[in-house]
Amino acid sequence: MRIYIQDALKKTGKIQVNGWVHEKRDLGKIRFLLLRDITGIIQITALKDKTDKKVFDLMDNLSGESVVCVSGELKPSKQAPGGKEIIPEKIEILALAGEKLPVDVSDFSKTELPKRLDYRFLDLHRRKIQAIFKIQSTISTAFREHFIKKEFIEFQPPSVISSASEGGTELFPVKYFEKSAYLAQSPQLYKQMVACSMEKAMTITPVWRAEKHNTIRHLNESRQMDIEIAFSGQKEVMKELEEVVQDIVKQVIEKNKQELEILGVKLKVPKAVYLSYEEAIKKVKSKFGDDFSPEQEKKLCEMYSGDIVFTHSWPSAIKPFYIMPQNENENSKLSEGFDALYQGVEISSGGQRVHLPELLEKMIKKKKLNPKNFKYYIDSFRFGAPKHSGWSIGLERFTQALLGLNNIREACLFPRDRDRLVP
Ligand code: ATP
Ligand code: MN
Repeated sequence: MRIYIQDALKKTGKIQVNGWVHEKRDLGKIRFLLLRDITGIIQITALKDKTDKKVFDLMDNLSGESVVCVSGELKPSKQAPGGKEIIPEKIEILALAGEKLPVDVSDFSKTELPKRLDYRFLDLHRRKIQAIFKIQSTISTAFREHFIKKEFIEFQPPSVISSASEGGTELFPVKYFEKSAYLAQSPQLYKQMVACSMEKAMTITPVWRAEKHNTIRHLNESRQMDIEIAFSGQKEVMKELEEVVQDIVKQVIEKNKQELEILGVKLKVPKAVYLSYEEAIKKVKSKFGDDFSPEQEKKLCEMYSGDIVFTHSWPSAIKPFYIMPQNENENSKLSEGFDALYQGVEISSGGQRVHLPELLEKMIKKKKLNPKNFKYYIDSFRFGAPKHSGWSIGLERFTQALLGLNNIREACLFPRDRDRLVP
C-alpha cells in the first residue's frame, strides 16, 4: 500500500515514499532533497560517510520534478519541514525529468500566466496551483452534496443543441450529420423541463459562449452549477443560493486549511444582503435600465464587505426573455430576476421563469426574437407546467471570486478562450 507523505510524517522507523523532486541542496558532505506528493513535503537527508555511495551520487544527478521512490529510516529532525526526515537507504528513479524544465515550477516562480498555461501539465506540479484545484473540487462537491441532501435530482443536459436557448450571446456552430447545430450556451430549457416534471433539479455542466471578448472574468468554455425548483419564486431561490454559498465556504474553510494557507487566503462565511435593483442603483449612482459596470459591482460589494449582495427585481428590459415580468404582465417594467455579487463580481444570475406559453411568446417578440425559433421551448409549457425559478453559478467565476484570483484562467484547468485551444 502506498503511503502518502502527510501520513508518513506521523510515523517513525522504516518507510517508503513516492514523490517528485521538489528541491535539492548540496552542502558537499551532506545532501538534502525535498520530496513532494499531493499531500505534502518531506526531507531526505544523506550524509556522505553514512550513506551508500550509489544513493549519495544519485541524489546529485536527480533533475528537478523527477519522480522517485525513496526507502529509508524516518527520524525526528527539528529543522526539517514536518519535523521529520528520511535517512535514505535506497532511491529508485521512476521517471526522470528532462534536465531543463520549460517553465519554472518552484514556489517562487514568476512565469507569466500565458506561458504557464502553455505548459499547464507542469504548472500543475506547483503547490499553489494544486491548492486552487483542490479547493475547486471542494466547491463542486459541496455544491452537489448540499443539494443531494435536499433531495434535488442531478440531471445531465445535452451539450449539442439545435438552436439558441437564450438569444443574445453567440453560439459555436457544430456539424451534426446533415443538420447544423450548436454547443449549448446554457442548460436553461432542459433544467426547466426537469423542474416542471421532477420539481427540484440540479446540475454541474459545461457551457460554451462564442463571445469574442477577452476579459479576465470570461471564458469561452466554462462550467455552471445550476438549480431549478418548481412552485417557487425569486425569493426562495435566492435563499437557496445564500445557503449553498455559505455551505461551500464553510466546507472550504474546514477541508482546505492547508491550501488556503498556501494561497494566503483568509475566508469567512458570508452573510447575505438583499437590495432591490432600484435600491442598488441609488447606492452606486447608476440610472434605471443600466446594468452595473464592473466598478459598480465592486463598489456594491465593498459596502457590504465580504457578504453576498443580491440585487433583485431587475428591469425586464435588461433580463432575458424567459425571466418572469412582475405580476405576470408583459408590460411590467420590473421582473422577477436577480443577480448575486460576491467579492466584487457577479457570481450568479437567476429568477422566476415565464411558464405561461402566451406570455412567453410575447416576451420573445418584445426582445425582437422570432417565437418560431423557440417552438419546442414554448410548447414544453403547454401541458401542465407550474411556476418555477432557478439560477446559475459559474464554477470558475466563483472560484476566482472566492480566492481573489486576478484572472479567471487561473481557476480553469485547461482554459478555452479567444486564443487558446491547447493544451
Ligand atoms: P457577465 O455579466 O458576468 O458576463 P452573464 O450575465 O452574461 O455574465 P449569465 O448568463 O448570467 O452570465 O451566466 C450565469 C453565471 O455564469 C454568471 O453569473 C457567471 O458566474 C458565469 N458566467 C457567465 N458567463 C461566463 C463566461 N463567459 N465565463 C465564465 N463564467 C461565466
Ligand atoms: Mn448574469
